[in-house]
Amino acid sequence: MKKVAVVFNGGTISMKVDPIIKAAVPSLTGEEIMAMVTGIEEFAEIESYNFSNLPSPHITPEVMLELSKYVEKLLLREDIDGIVVTHGTDSLEETAYFLALTIASEKPIVITGAMRSGSELGYDGPSNLAAAICTVISENSKNRGVLVCLNGELHSASEVTKANSMSLNAFQTPVFGPIGIVDNNEVIFYRNSEQKLNIKIDELSAKVDLIKCVSGMDGRLIDFCVSEGDKGIVIEAMGRGNIPLEMVQGVKNAINNNIAVVIVSRCFEGRVFPSYGYEGGGKELRNLGVILGDNMNGQKARIKLILALSKTSNLDEVRDMFEDGFYNNIIL
Ligand code: ASP
Repeated sequence: MKKVAVVFNGGTISMKVDPIIKAAVPSLTGEEIMAMVTGIEEFAEIESYNFSNLPSPHITPEVMLELSKYVEKLLLREDIDGIVVTHGTDSLEETAYFLALTIASEKPIVITGAMRSGSELGYDGPSNLAAAICTVISENSKNRGVLVCLNGELHSASEVTKANSMSLNAFQTPVFGPIGIVDNNEVIFYRNSEQKLNIKIDELSAKVDLIKCVSGMDGRLIDFCVSEGDKGIVIEAMGRGNIPLEMVQGVKNAINNNIAVVIVSRCFEGRVFPSYGYEGGGKELRNLGVILGDNMNGQKARIKLILALSKTSNLDEVRDMFEDGFYNNIIL
């Protein structure tokens, strides 16, 4: 029988409603949650670890790095076939992507959580956990990087996003859809996901902020990040990667200070491209030296930029990690 390590890490899956505060707070231990996954002993041998009991808005990139090292250590054990990590859903996609970029292992790593706490009718923690464990023990799950499993769907950590603040089906992969499903404990994959980049680092050394573009915005927030010593800035630009006119000065200031500026789109679907040549248009920005972030959302691009800049201060190398040759045929 396969052995699965389940690393508990807080979030709604570990919460109950406190009778005094009258709102959900972290309270369940890993062992208490596992006891609700009835019958799992017929599928796998489980080892539970309580890594943290944090609500996921409290999870920082530093905690993600600690978690990554913790998971890597467990993966080195020959008797462990794969890992499930539980996590609050709010920042789950960021931790999942962090683990995907920092851990290289053929063993499955599956992240799950819950949208309803242990005090609510229809608590989805145990069923999500059961599906995540079934995913880890499936031979089909090897060499697929980090997977996210909720509501019977499997997503690649590099593609998934929390798209709904309340429904059980909160996690979606824009454009492409889930890479697989868990149906009656059977794990079925329908496609592969291409994320292969690995960024090995020992410590985080880059502060990176995310700025979302809105109409009429100027460069003040960018100037503030520059004055605060950021090494990188991600801008969630409009449409194909365009920013308001008054913001361009801020981008120039950042680039003159050798700060990596990555442009992604604030649109839910689609990729950025240097289509527009007007001031603040994507082509003009790339001519200035910005890096284009393909179809990534802002929060994922920030995680990647933190890791990239912790690895190297060579901005050409950082560009390669983001643009991956996609934009090589564009004439500047
Ligand atoms: N606010 C919670 C958290 O992310 C939401 C959840 O886990 O579903 O910790």
